Amino acid sequence: MKERIGFIGVGVMGKPMAINLMKAGYALTVFDLNPNPLKELQARGAAIAHSSKEVASQAQVVITMLPNSGDVEKVILKENGVMEGLKSNSIVVDMSTIDPSVSRSIAKTLAGKNIKMLDAPVSGGQKGAEDGTLSIMVGGDKDVFEKCSPIFKAMGENIFYCGPNGNGEIVKVVNNMLSATNRAVCAEGLALGVKAGVDFKVLFDVICTSTGQSRSLVSSSAKAFKGDYEPGFAAALMHKDLGLAMNLAKEEKVPVPLGAISHQLYNHLLASGLGKKDTGIVFKVYEDLLKVKLRF
Ligand code: NAD
Repeated sequence: MKERIGFIGVGVMGKPMAINLMKAGYALTVFDLNPNPLKELQARGAAIAHSSKEVASQAQVVITMLPNSGDVEKVILKENGVMEGLKSNSIVVDMSTIDPSVSRSIAKTLAGKNIKMLDAPVSGGQKGAEDGTLSIMVGGDKDVFEKCSPIFKAMGENIFYCGPNGNGEIVKVVNNMLSATNRAVCAEGLALGVKAGVDFKVLFDVICTSTGQSRSLVSSSAKAFKGDYEPGFAAALMHKDLGLAMNLAKEEKVPVPLGAISHQLYNHLLASGLGKKDTGIVFKVYEDLLKVKLRF
């Protein structure tokens, strides 16, 4: 058995990532506000803690996989949190997608207690988490990254060192701005073609072998084009990531007009009560608007 790892936040992504760590031989102590995934992980051999502090008191490395910046700040820095439980020279690895500047600020606070932090957000979705094929983009000290490399390899396939604290988050935020914007323009283009009279399958097949092809288009065929909008990656999380991209652009004084338009589109999705649906719901919005079907 390898060393014990603490894991906080075992939702859509965190639970399969935790399972892959156990498959790779790590002992695990886990915590989540939702008791359901905890029971499943306990049945697979994980120890259950009752607070983030308790997780931290049992492990030298603690991974967090939480929805947003506020959750990560709370779980690591606030009362009964990770920082209260960790010994010095421990490592916190935050794999959530959060604001790069918040991530840097948490790393600075932890450094004051002699605790190292890595930001290590992921790409690849629920399937990548289940298959252990995630892309993982890491910010922080290079020696800490190297020390944690076997842990990353248990959960992912493509592991990248991106530079100092916060850089992993910057890469992730840019990636998701591209992914969201790309999926939105795919919905727009497919709806246009079908409305103008072309069969959906013909349109899809031609674009998949032409210059309009993209990963967003191809991967949508697994769920969205079959009318399945259960997450997966919730539209509310993509909306959050576009907001992070807008914050970053504001901080850096960089114009991102196309990203801003897709942020507005996701505002529309959330205002329509669709935040809990998969990001593929963007295709349904165009289906409903134009009374067309983007389905196989
Ligand atoms: P999720 O909502 O399914 O899981 C988050 C988990 O954190 C939940 O189980 C929740 O109960 C738990 N949690 C929240 N606050 C907590 C607290 N204070 N203490 C303990 N547990 C708490 O979200 P997810 O889809 O697994 O996403 C997690 C992160 O990964 C997000 O930042 C998301 O943007 C990112 N991400 C998600 C995907 C995806 O496809 N779902 C892909 C890449 C990155």
